[in-house]
Amino acid sequence: MSASRSKSERRFDVVVIGAGPAGLSFALSLERVGLTVGIVERLELDRIAHPAFDGREIALTDASVDRLRRLGVWSRIPSDEVSPLRVARVLNGGSRQGLNLRHPEGDTLALARLVSNHVIRRALYERFEQARGIELLCGERVSAVRPGPREVQVDLSGGTRLGASLVVAADSRFSETRSAMGISAHIRDFGRTITVFRVECDRPHHGVAYEWFDYGQTIALLPLNGGRYSVVLTLPTDEMRRLLAVDVEQFDREVERRLAPRGRMRRISERFSYPVVTVYPNRFSAARYALIGDAAVGMHPVTAHGFNFGLLGATTLAGLVAAAAVRGKDIGAPDVLDAYERRHRLATLPLYLATNGIVDVYTNEVLPMRFARNAILRIADRAAPLKTALTAFLTRGAPEARRLAEADG
Ligand SMILES: Cc1cc2nc3c(=O)[nH]c(=O)nc-3n(C[C@H](O)[C@H](O)[C@H](O)COP(=O)(O)OP(=O)(O)OC[C@H]3O[C@@H](n4cnc5c(N)ncnc54)[C@H](O)[C@@H]3O)c2cc1C
Repeated sequence: MSASRSKSERRFDVVVIGAGPAGLSFALSLERVGLTVGIVERLELDRIAHPAFDGREIALTDASVDRLRRLGVWSRIPSDEVSPLRVARVLNGGSRQGLNLRHPEGDTLALARLVSNHVIRRALYERFEQARGIELLCGERVSAVRPGPREVQVDLSGGTRLGASLVVAADSRFSETRSAMGISAHIRDFGRTITVFRVECDRPHHGVAYEWFDYGQTIALLPLNGGRYSVVLTLPTDEMRRLLAVDVEQFDREVERRLAPRGRMRRISERFSYPVVTVYPNRFSAARYALIGDAAVGMHPVTAHGFNFGLLGATTLAGLVAAAAVRGKDIGAPDVLDAYERRHRLATLPLYLATNGIVDVYTNEVLPMRFARNAILRIADRAAPLKTALTAFLTRGAPEARRLAEADG
């Protein structure tokens, strides 16, 4: 701490806003270059140190597993908490035929590995406890971010003022600092709500996931170890509100009825609901300020890429910041942030747009579209090169994202 600063002023090289999975991953990525990082988090420490189950099962790509491994986080995730997703079966309406996606290099390999969000967060926090140079300031909200020519100031609700060369916002898709910094965003509210919960099923699932675009509802079934599925039910928001308002026995009967075509299932966990809102800002940076995680790209969960992109962005930005630090350059300089902006946009925009396009087609219920929905899946299932390209796109990202992933490997 500089001698000229009062007790309520602190100085870090980087201030991160938000100790969610993206913020913690980014901070850990900087440890190797010895930069000091202060993470501001509005929740109390206990909620970050002991994250509770929130219903989300995160399908991690191979690239994300590698990134977590290099951060020293993957080894902290117990192997029985990792469920392999071997086949993804995409179905439309009442049709039994659909699109089957498998790992391009063989059936024994997993397309993705499912890990509960709270387990990932717990492993990140445990790794943070061992890290040097990173400090967590919990129970504090950011009330203002003031960029200057050489430093950016961050005012906290408790009265402390932080100084840094760079502020990185990982404060969720509803980021308050993003709009306060004058960054506009394309925000799309789909008018739908997702409810997630776990079920036990009466038959083995063999690692097969279902994405079932039924008429009036979308149901994803994600295979978990121990013969369980995670159910991701998406309904128009008013219908979901009615379903959640009934008593739990009635809810369970209704859910069993909706899931019946896939087997007999019994709910075994609490339910959690999330609004379906996607966000893509017009810029990822402003003066001495950058966005990562959902604050940068708020994906629709249907292609399971939110945190995968969060990790990619954290790695990309950390790599550029570390390179500037090693060369003794200003880590918050415009050329560092411009390079991040270009790379992350190229890596994420194609899948962001494609995902919203898939949702538009597969929630369109007019009769010609119902036929088109079936036809697209059948054609895609039979055209091997198209299927391989689609699998690579969904599991490893757009070609540009793959090039970057290989470069940072
Ligand atoms: C149902 C569902 C399924 C999903 N499945 C997948 C999947 O299969 N694969 C995948 O990759 N992703 C998936 N995702 C997305 C994934 O969960 C998110 O991308 C990820 O959790 C976002 O992490 P984050 O750190 O950016 O944001 P968050 O987890 O939202 O964390 C933001 C943090 O910032 C803090 N904060 C906010 N504002 C302030 C402030 N002003 N001051 C201080 N702190 C602040 C918050 O308290 C919070 O701790 C899914 C999401 C949902 C809802």
